[in-house]
Parts: sequence; structure tokens; C-alpha cells
Amino acid sequence: MTLSELFQTLKTLSKADLNSVKQFLESIDYNYNGFEDFLLSKKAENGISCPHCSSFNIKKNGHKGLMQRFMCHDCHKTFSARNNTITFSSKKSFATWKKYLECMMNGFTVRRSAEICGINKDTAFIWRHKVLDALQNMQNSVELNGVVEADETFFALSFKGNHKKSTSFVMPREAHKRGNDVHTRGLSHEQVCVPCAVTQDGLSISKQSNLGRASTKNLSEVFSGRIASNSVLCADAHHSYQKFAKENKLELIQLKTGKSKKGIFHVQHINSYHSILKTWIIRFHGVATKYLDNYLVWHNFVNWAKDPYEKKSEILSAFVFCTNKTVKSKELSVRSPLPCVA
Ligand SMILES: [Zn+2]
Repeated sequence: MTLSELFQTLKTLSKADLNSVKQFLESIDYNYNGFEDFLLSKKAENGISCPHCSSFNIKKNGHKGLMQRFMCHDCHKTFSARNNTITFSSKKSFATWKKYLECMMNGFTVRRSAEICGINKDTAFIWRHKVLDALQNMQNSVELNGVVEADETFFALSFKGNHKKSTSFVMPREAHKRGNDVHTRGLSHEQVCVPCAVTQDGLSISKQSNLGRASTKNLSEVFSGRIASNSVLCADAHHSYQKFAKENKLELIQLKTGKSKKGIFHVQHINSYHSILKTWIIRFHGVATKYLDNYLVWHNFVNWAKDPYEKKSEILSAFVFCTNKTVKSKELSVRSPLPCVA
């Protein structure tokens, strides 16, 4: 049937039938199309699996609107390519999500991203952390090797976003106006320690570990199994690195306080990593400690990884649209305000 024949037929329909046609057209979610095309092309590379039982033993099972449905031969459940992904329950279009990921590539604030994408600020904030929670999984598979430079950096403890009247959280001390304003000088227990390790070719690991200076145990929690044995670890003279290096079969080069070079070894990359991180994070006006790890992986991906922008943008899209979601929106706000001692 041609389109003009279809229109002729429509003209012959009763008002009630036309109403049914209208309802049918409205029930089609046109937004699914972009996600579907993208997901099916990406997932086809590794094979499409059942989101319920992970089986690859599946078949096509008709369409819902424009969306291809599948059925699993093993658990007999039906699904679409988008089931259980980060964007599954989102009513926003594929184009909006793509625009949003570009905002993340550029490290834009929630306000700016919301304006560019035409979404509200709460949505932009939730999307940010859904994406970054997923990106944590990508970072968890990173292993550093060769010459690895390590050092800790510190962030002021911040309970931003944990409301005073919350029923699930009691402020352990008087609220500060801004997260960056630490009352006590030096390494007080109001400073969150973040052990960081980097290589010069763009790999990095960083995660909050404790309050105050890191012990060997704290370093192990962040780095153990993540630095290949026989790598060379360049760090400062703190004793916590000695036991850690021994336990992990790493050659340790320790630099005296104030020195950034020892023979061919140095800590210039880790110093540069910290400096880029501190400058970049200023735009967020104090990061809540409960979200700090997410800002760290964000920084690692957009600022430290050495791939060209386009390549990273492609990796981010493929990862965000295809990976299974790790967090529900309502779980975001109730996560522990201080993950490293929770
Ligand atoms: Zn199944």
C-alpha cells in the first residue's frame, strides 16, 4: 500500500476507528529508534545476550512500536536490546543522551549540561552519576605496569547534599559553607586521602581511602592487584610505600621530600596529574565526599587518558549505552556520605 492509498483508507474510517489509529501512533515511542540502532550495531559485535540469564541462545520476537524484541530460549523471557541498560527507563531521546555525553567529555557543570540538553538540573545530576558509576567498572579493570608514579592527594571532607533534616544521616560536625574550607591545617581528619597512581601513557588509578595520611593497608585497598608485579614504583619517602612495594613485588624508588627526581626516575607525571585534577575540579565548587570517587574516574577518563577526543567520545558512548546499569536513581542520594570508612 502506498502512503496516498493509506491516507485514502484513513479518510473512510469512522471517528472511533480514527481515534484508535491516533492512539496507536501515540503509543509508539519514537525515541527508541536511535538507541535501538546503536545498541544493535554495537551489541552485534559481541553477540546479543539475554539480560535476565546472560544466555546467547535467543531469537527475534517481533516488534513493539519500532523496537525489536527478543526471546530467550533458555529462560523464555522477552527483552529489547535496551533492557537493563543505563538509559532503559529514560524517556529522553537518543540525541539528548548523546549531547549529554559530549557535555561530560567536556567536563561541563550540571547547570551548563542541563541548558545545552534541554533537561532539568536534577536529571542532569542523576545522569552524571549513573554514567560515572558505570565508568567505575571500566577503571576497575585498569592495571598499571612499567614505571608507575604514586602519591596521595587530599580533599576536604564534604557532606554537601546530605540534608540536615535527613532521617538516615546525622551530620558528624558543624556544616561548613563550602567543601574546600578545612578548619585545621595539615593532615587532619577532615581531609579525605586519595592515593593516586599513574603511568606516563595515560593509565591511572585513584580512589578515596581514609581520613588523614594513608597507611600500607589503605594503599593496598586502592592499589593491590592493580599494579603489575616487577613494575617500578616511584613514590615519596613515606614508610607506608615500603611495605606495600614489598608485599606486591614492586621495585620501589623513593624520593626525598622536596626532590622530584632521582636518576632517571621522577614523580613529574603524578604531580602533573594532581595539578590538572585540582584545577579541573574547582568548577564543581566542592565535591560531596560520597561522589568523590566518581569525579576521580571522570577526571581519569577525560583528562588523563591519552586517546584522542573523538576516540574517547566513541568509547564513552559505546560503554554508556551498552553497559548494564549499576545504580537506580533513588539509590544515588542514599549512598554512604563517607564511603571510605563505611
Ligand atoms: Zn534468558
